[in-house]
Amino acid sequence: MTTGIWVLGDQLWTEQAALSSCEAEKSQTPVVLIESRHYAQQRPYHSQKLVLVWSAMRHFAEELRSAGWQVTYKKIADNFEPALLKWIKQNEISELRVMIPNDRPFLQLIQNLQLDCSLNLIANNHFLWGKTEFQDWANSRKRLLMEDFYREGRKRFNILIDDNKPIGGKWNFDKQNRRPSKGKLTTPIPLWFEPDEITRSVIKEVKERNLASYGEIEPFRWGVTRSDALAVLEYFLTKCLPTFGPYQDAMVTGEETLWHSLISPYLNLGLLTPLEVITAAQKAYFEHDLALNSVEGFIRQVLGWREYMQGIYHSQKGDYRDSNWFQHHEPLPDFYWYSSQTDMNCLHQVLKQVESTGYAHHIQRLMVLSNFALIVGVSPQEIEAWFHAAFVDAYDWVMQTNVIGMGQFADGGILASKPYASSANYINKMSDYCKNCAYDLKQRTGEHACPFNFFYWDFLARHQDQLKSQGRMNLILGNLKRMAAEELVEIQALAADWREKNSN
Ligand SMILES: Cc1cc2nc3c(=O)[nH]c(=O)nc-3n(C[C@H](O)[C@H](O)[C@H](O)COP(=O)(O)OP(=O)(O)OC[C@H]3O[C@@H](n4cnc5c(N)ncnc54)[C@H](O)[C@@H]3O)c2cc1C
Ligand code: SF4
Repeated sequence: MTTGIWVLGDQLWTEQAALSSCEAEKSQTPVVLIESRHYAQQRPYHSQKLVLVWSAMRHFAEELRSAGWQVTYKKIADNFEPALLKWIKQNEISELRVMIPNDRPFLQLIQNLQLDCSLNLIANNHFLWGKTEFQDWANSRKRLLMEDFYREGRKRFNILIDDNKPIGGKWNFDKQNRRPSKGKLTTPIPLWFEPDEITRSVIKEVKERNLASYGEIEPFRWGVTRSDALAVLEYFLTKCLPTFGPYQDAMVTGEETLWHSLISPYLNLGLLTPLEVITAAQKAYFEHDLALNSVEGFIRQVLGWREYMQGIYHSQKGDYRDSNWFQHHEPLPDFYWYSSQTDMNCLHQVLKQVESTGYAHHIQRLMVLSNFALIVGVSPQEIEAWFHAAFVDAYDWVMQTNVIGMGQFADGGILASKPYASSANYINKMSDYCKNCAYDLKQRTGEHACPFNFFYWDFLARHQDQLKSQGRMNLILGNLKRMAAEELVEIQALAADWREKNSN
């Protein structure tokens, strides 16, 4: 009886469930990691995502070898099955052990493999909340509110809690964390890395084989090992966390990262674990007397939003991905793939940044990229596929919930209490983008009207009946009702004209 372990590309930590289950016999346990070019070409990816994942896998394989595991690393052109069959035969494996992947499509892929040994799928320990624990919590609620879930998490893991009460007397200090970006900000320089030999060889392969279909491959500056990821965390705790809160939602031209942590790629690959991140932030709060709005705001992202998103993903059926509450079917405008093709400055700036880094912070993703697709009426599945292709931290579990649910409201409100739709007003309040734009942020009709404006009102008018059922929309629907009929006609004509010009 030989047990072999297949380590997937986003399961790169030594305490992951499959590896820990064989830790005592590691010198006799064959482990395989497989890079499949066939799989990588099933959908478009940012070139830096391919480099990040494959370089991190190659580094992790080295780490496992040094720790005494018997590691085989395969780079294949084909899909996974032939390579696995060969490795199983060579190592006389009777049981293939795999930690259940976070992403449903990959689980299906594994379950459909025709292997000549038994398959043992063991529970995933990538998150603080297991699937059953989340489901138990969800079953006890009428509505799955993130704020309730977050409070439960604070209590359950004893984070920022004193005597069963939230430290500071409140659970949430978000109101202090919405400062706009007016005036000069002195921001920390992010911690980036020079590619080492392994990363350089992946870059070369991706370039030579023309494997990626989006984004610039260089400069590649992401970390690729656990020690890089720990350095990013440490850097964040000392340089960014003290002032993380106030400008969390601000957007500034040329400032790609502000005070954000840049840890999502590492958390999602397993190079960092959520509990170590949360406890490190809590420790920094106590030791350095940091501002509570910053620390609580950051902890809420990881203990609240991240865990909640994966919990919701697993609690919904597989057809969640097809949700389309508004029945939006417009194609994605081409400029999402080519930033130079839009003269809308907010979109141009954020898209240019995504092309060169594979990263944008939360409000850039939600209120610029996703918001515009929503109000134009782009198919939720098309914009989801684009997000998946464009970001280095994208995975099915985090895309479905953030894009289909939060960004597009395509699930009809399972996840968000109202659609994240806005006009130029919000973008102008939170950024400096409108100052240098060809469009007039104040106009909703006329030659220079900002498209965010006419699409916003067009969106409200198109969906007013559905939106009436969302209590939080009533105030704005009242404004729509008071709009002169001629103005609405003009707005709708501008929207139709824009769609016509931008349909590919
Ligand atoms: C439309 C849209 C698409 C998104 N796509 C992704 C994605 O592909 N991958 C991804 O990891 N996150 C995604 N997010 C969530 C969030 O925007 C990113 O996690 C965050 O911007 C990553 O940057 P950071 O590490 O600097 O985050 P910080 O602002 O420093 O936040 C700290 C951490 O909190 C976690 N977090 C915060 N919000 C969320 C959330 N809504 N869902 C999951 N984790 C969260 C992340 O792990 C993040 O690293 C998306 C959000 C939206 C609205
Ligand atoms: S005016 Fe409109 S298009 Fe231009 S930057 Fe502002 S919101 Fe974006």
